[in-house]
Amino acid sequence: MSAPQSAFVSTVLLSGASCRTGSFLPLLEAGAARKRSAAAAPHAQQRRVRSARLPLCAKVVGPARPTAPIPKPKDALSDQSGLVNLDLTGSIPRRKTRAVRVGDVYIGGGNPVVVQSMINEDTLDIEGCVASIRRLHEAGCEVVRLTVPSMAHAHAVGFIKQRLRETYRDVPLVADVHHNGMNIALEVAKHVDKVRINPGLYVFEKPDPNRTEYSRADFEAAAQKLKETLKPLILSLREQDKAMRIGVNHGSLSERMLFTYGDTPEGMVESALECIRVCRELDFHNLVISMKASKVPVMMAAYRLLAKRLDQESMDYPIHLGVTEAGDGEYGRIKSSIGIGGLLAEGIGDTIRVSLTEDPVKEIPVCYGILQALGLRRTMVEYVACPSCGRTLFNIEEVLHKVRDATKHMPGLSIAVMGCIVNGPGEMADADYGYVGKTPGKISLYRGREEIRTVPENQGVAELIKLMKEDGVWVDPPASPNASTEPKHDGSSKPATASRQPQASSV
Ligand code: SF4
Repeated sequence: MSAPQSAFVSTVLLSGASCRTGSFLPLLEAGAARKRSAAAAPHAQQRRVRSARLPLCAKVVGPARPTAPIPKPKDALSDQSGLVNLDLTGSIPRRKTRAVRVGDVYIGGGNPVVVQSMINEDTLDIEGCVASIRRLHEAGCEVVRLTVPSMAHAHAVGFIKQRLRETYRDVPLVADVHHNGMNIALEVAKHVDKVRINPGLYVFEKPDPNRTEYSRADFEAAAQKLKETLKPLILSLREQDKAMRIGVNHGSLSERMLFTYGDTPEGMVESALECIRVCRELDFHNLVISMKASKVPVMMAAYRLLAKRLDQESMDYPIHLGVTEAGDGEYGRIKSSIGIGGLLAEGIGDTIRVSLTEDPVKEIPVCYGILQALGLRRTMVEYVACPSCGRTLFNIEEVLHKVRDATKHMPGLSIAVMGCIVNGPGEMADADYGYVGKTPGKISLYRGREEIRTVPENQGVAELIKLMKEDGVWVDPPASPNASTEPKHDGSSKPATASRQPQASSV
């Protein structure tokens, strides 16, 4: 190929010009020239083919690239798509809510999404509960719930709170009140920071198997009874400036809601709205609302409808997200991540609980994983790593483990481990540092998108640490082997001296 032809082909290839134009002819000539050259020196030609000219040319010969799709206006998207409120630029505009205080934690109002869980000890076991609450709190749980099925349990909560203050700290506590629990709720409200009621159980009447209809009068009478029973609790919480969660569960809707709305998200939302209106009549607004279901699509539909109805009625109460009875293991985590994470990605949700049939402490990393993946809180190092392929130049699984072991104590950083320089640097997703396969036995270290140096692969991790030290980013790992990556309760576990740490919990 002549020099001008070569230059032209390069120009066409780099510019991505379409071969459907008349300018395709020089490419054919270039191909003919390659064939002539190949006849004379077949090995040299094969080397040229392998040098990736042909794949690039093939890219040009193919059909012209379609132009970028024109985004639809948001209101043209189906309401079921879940995209209506999703900012397609990638950031998550959160539903605007008021801040509700629970002890020293604020839910909503633009505060970081709060992580909560529930202990499973008998509340009468005061020392056991204190130990479990402390363990959960130390693992990163910010609000802890406990069950209060009787008046004796309500009194026990007072001792639990006192022991926590004496031996640890004043952890924000929520009391879960059960069937016909008005008196229990009134007692426990003195000791906790929030009371959770279930509208379907708070005034509970056993369903009548012979009932065939629920008249308007019956409905109103039951609603009136709920109102009268809620009133003392609302007044008590208002007086103490404490909070209430109106926690609807799909599996425990009242009989009248089931008759009126069916076993539906609408019934769940109406059940909550009825209680919210009673609170508003009494000028009580320290409310958090939840709509839990074990089926992810039901749960998501109920929360979406709740957010819509609250917004329609100018009610800015924060929302507590959860998939109830999610089960255990991988599938329990997947269900929770989809249900909770999907709604958070739409801007819905101010506090979360992942419910696993496991030690509650194991729920906390899942919560933080969901929040970190969505960029809502940064409590861990963010590792970006390619899945590896035939181009991978080192044992990427092994290297990722080594990099993680060396750096996991610096939450807030983002570090990429990529198998090759073909796609690695471009796919590092704006990581702070990159460890990228360069040639067999060599890796390149990046600071952001800038390649800093190439080093032998067996020195890669040490050189990465050296680079961080040069940048003033590195901090030594904590002395205790246990105090490493677990997120801390205040979401601010970033190393004190790390100068490049993003703000933890700032979004
Ligand atoms: Fe393969 Fe390179 Fe992509 Fe990793 S970055 S998957 S090694 S092409």
